[in-house]
Parts: sequence; C-alpha cells; structure tokens
Amino acid sequence: MTQIPILIATRNAHKAQEIAAILPPEYKVSTLLDLPDAPDVEETGHTFAANARLKAEGISAVFSGLVLADDSGLCVDTLNGAPGVLSARYAGEHGQDADNNAKLLRELSVLRGWAPFPARFVCALSLAENGREIAHFCGTVEGRITLHPRGLQGFGYDPLFVPQGYTCTMAELPAAAKNAISHRGNALRQFADWIRCRSSRFEY
Ligand code: IMP
Repeated sequence: MTQIPILIATRNAHKAQEIAAILPPEYKVSTLLDLPDAPDVEETGHTFAANARLKAEGISAVFSGLVLADDSGLCVDTLNGAPGVLSARYAGEHGQDADNNAKLLRELSVLRGWAPFPARFVCALSLAENGREIAHFCGTVEGRITLHPRGLQGFGYDPLFVPQGYTCTMAELPAAAKNAISHRGNALRQFADWIRCRSSRFEY
C-alpha cells in the first residue's frame, strides 16, 4: 500500500490521536509533537477557518509536503457562540480543560432558566502545501450542554456535551462512536474524499 505522508499542525495529543484514528490506514501521520523545532503559529483569526489556515500555511511554509491543520471548538447559542475560537483559552491563556469546563458551567448556571442549552462542536480543517492553502473543510455536530458533567473518554468539553439524539455525553461514548458522529470525523471524511477524488482524476 502506498502511504500518503501528512503532517498534522498540532501539539494537542488528544486531537492528534483522534485524527490518526479517523484517517484511513493509507495515511502516514506525523504531528508537531514529532518536530520540537517547529515554529509556534499565533491564532489571531476571528473564525475557526481563519485560524486553521494560519496554522496550515505557517507550518507548511517551513516543512515540505501536505500539512493539515484543525481549528475547532464549542459554540453555545445561549452565550452568543462563546467560547467559539477561544475554546482552548476560555479560562485564560493557559486554561486547562477542567478550568474551561468550570467557567462554562459557571456562565450557564446563572442562565439555567434558558436550558436546554443548544450548542455545536465545529472543526475547520485547512490543507496547505508550500505555504499556501489548497483546500478547506468544515464539520459540525449539534447537541446541547448539560450542567452535570459525565464521562471520562475524549477531552475538552466532551463531558458537558450531549450530542443530538443521545442521552449520554460525548465523554461517555467509546472513541470509535465519538469519531463516527463528531465534528472532526465529519470534516476528516470530507478531506479524505477530496484527496481520493484528486488522485483518481489521473486515472480516467
Ligand atoms: P484549538 O487547539 O485552538 O483548535 O482549540 C481546540 C479547543 O476546543 C480544545 O482545547 C477543546 O477545548 C475544544 N475542543 C475541540 N474539539 C473538541 C472535542 O472533540 N471535544 C471536546 N472539546 C473540543
């Protein structure tokens, strides 16, 4: 099997693990965790797509081959879309998942009369080569926020997010079940289809 090398522009081990599990086996995945000298790219964009593009283009300007960046987060309607692009930094620049979740629970507890709290996870992917974006994809999963965190799987806001049609949280689902419905799974399947179409163009 010919492998397709792809560098994922992330140092987030949880994201990297999910991406490697979702992509078909023909992908040879490496991440910035394998490249300690890779530059830091500031996420100064106002949208997930803009930040994904900054990361993909910034890293592909210094590393050859295909670079894929994921910018993702949680948008809660009752909070006008917050935490949004600030999902990783909701409780401060070095906010940990537990601090971010505690802040979200504080914000929503005072608004409990507005429950259920409709929300969605969003994943923007940007694919770049030679410092230029060549394609982008977006996946979402709808759900609601529960004020009663549950589950130990996944990462980030998963213990607070109940996907539409489910009664358990994302963090109570086994990894394969999360990946089958998640924003990231959705976006990565679009990406893999796109690469497949691009390659098959030359077979007609
Ligand atoms: P990024 O690294 O700037 O894209 O920030 C991603 C942040 O969004 C993470 O730190 C999490 O807080 C949140 N997030 C993104 N994807 C997920 C997910 O699949 N589950 C739970 N939280 C997520």
